[in-house]
Amino acid sequence: MTQSSTLCLDELVFDNRFIRELPADPLLKNSRRQVKKACFSYVQPTPVSDPVLVALSSEMIDELNLSKDSDTDPQFLQVFVGNQLLNGMKPYAMCYGGHQFGNWAGQLGDGRAINLGDVITENNKRWSLQLKGAGPTPYSRTADGLAVLRSSLREFLCSEAMYHLGVPTTRALSLALTGEKVVRDMFYDGHPEYEPGAVVCRVAPSFTRFGNFQILSAQNDIENLKKLVDHTIKTDFPHLDHSAQDIYLQWFKEVCTTTADMIVHWMRVGFVHGVMNTDNMSILGLTIDYGPYGWLENYDPDWTPNTTDANGRRYRFSSQSQIALWNLLQLAEAIYPLINDTKPLEEILQHYNDYYQQQYNDMMANKLGFEQSSEAVEELAIQLLQLLTVVETDMTLFYRALSKIELEESIYMQDSLLHEFFEPAWYQPDQVDGNYLSQLKAWLQNYQKCARDLKLSEEDRKNRMNNTNPKYVFRNYLAQQAIDKALEGDYSMVHELLNVFRKPYDEQPENEIFSAKRPEWARHRAGCSMLSCSS
Ligand code: AMP
Ligand code: MG
Repeated sequence: MTQSSTLCLDELVFDNRFIRELPADPLLKNSRRQVKKACFSYVQPTPVSDPVLVALSSEMIDELNLSKDSDTDPQFLQVFVGNQLLNGMKPYAMCYGGHQFGNWAGQLGDGRAINLGDVITENNKRWSLQLKGAGPTPYSRTADGLAVLRSSLREFLCSEAMYHLGVPTTRALSLALTGEKVVRDMFYDGHPEYEPGAVVCRVAPSFTRFGNFQILSAQNDIENLKKLVDHTIKTDFPHLDHSAQDIYLQWFKEVCTTTADMIVHWMRVGFVHGVMNTDNMSILGLTIDYGPYGWLENYDPDWTPNTTDANGRRYRFSSQSQIALWNLLQLAEAIYPLINDTKPLEEILQHYNDYYQQQYNDMMANKLGFEQSSEAVEELAIQLLQLLTVVETDMTLFYRALSKIELEESIYMQDSLLHEFFEPAWYQPDQVDGNYLSQLKAWLQNYQKCARDLKLSEEDRKNRMNNTNPKYVFRNYLAQQAIDKALEGDYSMVHELLNVFRKPYDEQPENEIFSAKRPEWARHRAGCSMLSCSS
């Protein structure tokens, strides 16, 4: 098979190492239960009546070397809603536990995710295929195992948008309607309604979460904990030195590093995950489980999109790095029985803070156009973030506007020019008074001076800024508009957005409309300003 010819579905090569190497739940009945001494349960997807393909990711199609015509292939649709299995697929749901909002919740598991198997591509990459919303599993507890169109559309588009933004993430291959109706009480306020059911096929090198290790440790099943850790290191961390005595510590350190890297990316693009429970933390440092997530529009470090978290704001934008650290501490406790020494684990966790801070500082420096952080640049970044909260300012638009300011020029110190440049980013221009403008001018002068002192060239600065600060992000109101249309049977906006998000750092004048700040109607509208976990 040459690289250029594509595969038909039946030619996909599967290697289901997770279920081959790890202990299975011996019960095959699809009943809800507590599962012990096992990493997963075999389960079949529930067939659906009338599937319709809404969208697929052509990049993911290419990764799997499938045909570009998959969107018209009836078999593709049947397979990726769970109506048909390919040779080599052996569906299963993973067993995991987790801390939810800081409390140990016991067994959770894939309650509505069903893994189909791992595809091995020609260039030897492993891609796990997983259906989300394909029916109940032994881990569904009291819920139905299903997903609705609105949340599935949000997951499909956001994971692909994140990929193009350069943020580590699980991916999505397809989004399809099932033809079934699903009851949801969106705000848990006694107003259940029927919504269209949907299935997303998610894709990742591995869907293992911190919670997979936690559940075995909590059950004191150290034998299987060791099996899972060894399997994970071998399969998902092949580059580590497996013969090293401190391999578990090396591995944990890498999990800390990749987790920190992921959060730095979130802070760069203004992403708020919304439910950073330990069952939603990928062992590979991938953004996983797109639920009530959101994007910062006006820069507000305290913002959380999740209505369940509205009071405590545990998962607010500015807390994400510390919550990740707390989650890493839970992982450290889970794997402790394999290490039996707290000191090196503590040292690695302490290193997380230094590492995160350094990466964060460099990222903020890049956002301002500098190659790397320094004391002066750090100070500038701190002052700017403070300034962005003085008047309601769109974070994404502000950085793009800032890149257009010329370093050598003093004309920007005129009020009219400041308005011209920054007004598109201000939500309430009447908040902009003389006091604010003089603070902004003072900051810009410091910025210009700092750039000159560091001999930063205009070209380098602009290029770096426009490669760091996206122009197009998946604004909360855009998601809602795409959902509203899709509910009417019009999927055009899903395709338009998928296309715009392919090049989020490009200007794309023809797509300017998708970069606009949040319209006033969206300020307090459900789905735009806040979301519940109901999905
Ligand atoms: P989440 O908040 O989406 O990360 O989900 C937390 C847990 O609840 C996971 O174990 C999910 O599999 C499970 N879950 C969420 N929604 C459903 C559903 N509709 N049916 C079954 N399980 C669900
Ligand atoms: Mg989850």
